[in-house]
Amino acid sequence: MKRRDFTRTLAAAALATVPGARLGAASTGGAPVARVPRINGERLNGWLTAISEFGRNPAGGVTRLAYGEADLAARAFVTQRMLEAKLTVVVDAAGNIYGKRAGADASAAPIIFGSHVDSVPEGGNFDGNVGTLAAIEVARTFAEQGVTTRHPLWVVCWQNEEGGTWGSHLVTADVAGTELSTVARSGKSIGDGIRYLGGDPTKLAAARLRKGDVHGYLELHIEQGGLLDRQKLDIGVVEGIVGLREWDVTIDGFANHAGTTPMNERRDAMLAAARFTEMVNRIVTAESGRQVGTVGRIQAFPGAPNVVPGKVTCTLELRDLDDRKIQTLYEAIVAESQKIGARNGTTFSYHEFVTHESARCDAGVRTIIGAAAATRGFATMSLPSGAGHDAQNLARVCPMGMIFIPSVDGISHSPREFSRPRDITNGADVLLGAVLAMDEATFR
Ligand SMILES: [Zn+2]
Repeated sequence: MKRRDFTRTLAAAALATVPGARLGAASTGGAPVARVPRINGERLNGWLTAISEFGRNPAGGVTRLAYGEADLAARAFVTQRMLEAKLTVVVDAAGNIYGKRAGADASAAPIIFGSHVDSVPEGGNFDGNVGTLAAIEVARTFAEQGVTTRHPLWVVCWQNEEGGTWGSHLVTADVAGTELSTVARSGKSIGDGIRYLGGDPTKLAAARLRKGDVHGYLELHIEQGGLLDRQKLDIGVVEGIVGLREWDVTIDGFANHAGTTPMNERRDAMLAAARFTEMVNRIVTAESGRQVGTVGRIQAFPGAPNVVPGKVTCTLELRDLDDRKIQTLYEAIVAESQKIGARNGTTFSYHEFVTHESARCDAGVRTIIGAAAATRGFATMSLPSGAGHDAQNLARVCPMGMIFIPSVDGISHSPREFSRPRDITNGADVLLGAVLAMDEATFR
């Protein structure tokens, strides 16, 4: 089957309204879609069952920490499936696994698509595994049906996503040597972890991807939220990955005897913290939008039943797709906290310790994904990703897009995490269509 026959109309539909993308010369005109290849859903779901053995925990999920034995075993499983899909397997200097497939144009930049197979402690069977194995299934379908793309295809399995999207970070940023001494949950440093996986931390420059090196990036992932499941939708077209900032907040008051200090003379840091927590919720919910704000950790000092707390440390976390909105919310919270402090003689100070800028999905890639889903008759919605993904790092070097499938009851990072086999098959079919449409697209 000539791939152009079935991709032409798909691509044309996808790109008709794409800002920044246009059809390649070879695709103008064309016959209606005859047959769009379909992935083998039974095989893909079988692989998902098989990979769940590595790091299986009693609750039915997996604990597959990066750089541990189960991680290594799952990566060996991935490598085998890549080889069966006729992919050329390489482990780059950062420890990521690529399964590479040649394109018709050897000088064209590759399309990269995939995900990860490491998990959080007591994690589930779908986070990361779905996107990685679906990407291999897409390549296997191309191999079986004799589909040739113009761009080379690189199926990827990123290393240590759950510890902070390390694999994709290492290849899209200039990494300081000191970062490699960060200790991961497995107890190994990032540098030792890279060696454990077969990479070489002294040769990271060789693995580096820069603007122009990659035609585009796609990642299929479970939603890890309940929007698609609640609304009974098939596919989520991700708008972007939200920005995230976290602060340590210190509230200073005055510790004093809880029996002898009258209520009106107290500089109670805990009372200020309670008002602060309520105020953060009020400020964040005061306007429409999907912004979220959390006070997730708190500790009172000295921490005794009979002492008015003189000091409280807590955290503030804010997330939104718009980094400016996060800044505006933060400034409003700081101003309100000063009023709270003035009420009972306490002071607030903020120390920011985590900053992740938001990463927008490329408008052209979003259109491609939406069209690939529409071609299959799937119901879709656009939504932001509240969780971090490797895709956010790829956005630094190429047009990026993400496809979400429903998570039943919105549960994730838990052994109870579940996505239906049908939804996984649907997601992989959309990934396949999006890869083919991206192959035809030119991005600004
Ligand atoms: Zn994930």
